[in-house]
Amino acid sequence: MQKIRVQIGSDVPNKSRVVYVFSFIGLHSGVKFELTEENGDILYGKRKDTSKEAKVIIPCDYSLLEGNSSPETRTIEDIPVLHKDIVPGDKLLEKHESSIRFTYDPVAIIFYLISRIEEVKSTETDTHGRFISTNSVLHPSGFLNEPVVDYHLNTVKRALKDMSFELDDRKTPMAILTHDVDQPIRSIKGSFRLLFEGEKDLKSRVNSLTDTIGRKIKTEDNPFWNFGSFTTAEAGYGFKSAFFFTAPYYRTKYDPKYNVNGYNFRMKIAELTAKGFEVGLHGSYNSVIDGDKLTKEKEKLENTGVNVYGNRSHYLRFEVAGGYRKIQSANLKYDSSLGYSDTIGYRCGTGLPFYPYDFGTEKAIPILEIPLIVMDGALIPNREIEEVNEILDNLVDTALRLNGAVTFLWHLRTAYDIDYPGWFDVYKRLLKKLSENGFDVLKPSSLAESYMNLAGELGYHDFIFE
Ligand SMILES: [Zn+2]
Repeated sequence: MQKIRVQIGSDVPNKSRVVYVFSFIGLHSGVKFELTEENGDILYGKRKDTSKEAKVIIPCDYSLLEGNSSPETRTIEDIPVLHKDIVPGDKLLEKHESSIRFTYDPVAIIFYLISRIEEVKSTETDTHGRFISTNSVLHPSGFLNEPVVDYHLNTVKRALKDMSFELDDRKTPMAILTHDVDQPIRSIKGSFRLLFEGEKDLKSRVNSLTDTIGRKIKTEDNPFWNFGSFTTAEAGYGFKSAFFFTAPYYRTKYDPKYNVNGYNFRMKIAELTAKGFEVGLHGSYNSVIDGDKLTKEKEKLENTGVNVYGNRSHYLRFEVAGGYRKIQSANLKYDSSLGYSDTIGYRCGTGLPFYPYDFGTEKAIPILEIPLIVMDGALIPNREIEEVNEILDNLVDTALRLNGAVTFLWHLRTAYDIDYPGWFDVYKRLLKKLSENGFDVLKPSSLAESYMNLAGELGYHDFIFE
């Protein structure tokens, strides 16, 4: 295993943030970074610092690392760059005889985006208390759909390779398939209500009502009970996905109405896990905000006889500053709530998993965040199916090119074609594309386990965790 010594300049204000980012880079390049007081292979610090020994020199953008103010954005060599103190040159890297010098600070960019410092500092939220996508620094420049972090991770990796360091990095892009079980049953009462209130045309509303009643009479599966449609389509490519179920004790009007302890649910959960699919917790509307709700919900879901390893919050209602502590108290291993409900894209600047940063302790929390990139409801409405497919193709192609990761969320009900025409076809096409391009499709719990092991092997547990 390659060890690379990093020297952090004495002038750098917040060393633990730099250490945190190097561990992120290390995890995604199979490198063990170690700190050294002098003569590192990498020197991170003042721009004018010179070192005879350092092979890679990275200047520190203090303001960006401290998150003091909104950074500026620009594109250099086709790569989206954030900066504040240091104005990057026309080229990202300057190659010298025996060293490479960055003209900008990729470490601070990665920190700024994955630490979610802009969310921690933001006081403005939407009506559900969520960070607003248009407030992201990535939004105005159109960078939300670009994995900005991945570009800079790769730039650092390339510089290390050019300087003959050996990386032991992952060779295939990753995809994570997930389903939130919000509305697994289209009730007859609800179907009547939709007959008068639905957004669809009348013919379609009548169709789904008669179909829902007809299936009930014939004791067929309810139109929204689509576990089999998803698992069959995925299993066709050898893929396994995760289904997130809610188990609230106190329901708000926003929470799903089913009881996970009902016979049908317990049977289905047992069947899914027996077939190798994952069952996770869909934390209720207030779960990550309020008291020990999340812990109790996890216990309730586990009472159906399943081991639960991760959370995705309902409504993607998540608070970066306190949410991970709730997840940790509930003894969960990962979260996958950091996406936007109104748009697709890279809320954290990456689809790659990472350990969240705690600004209270200036350390990482040993919970893997697996950022959500594409949610069906944020992608498909108000778009032609052709355009939807094109967006997905671009996203998958970018992940393929950068060796990234993409997490997808298709709700259970959307395989009902009368209500959601074309949505399931889009999903099936996506599965095919992932398979054809050799994506490694992983269950989120497997990802969480393998990264925790990798962090241990590379010596990062003591390095970043409190
Ligand atoms: Zn939900």
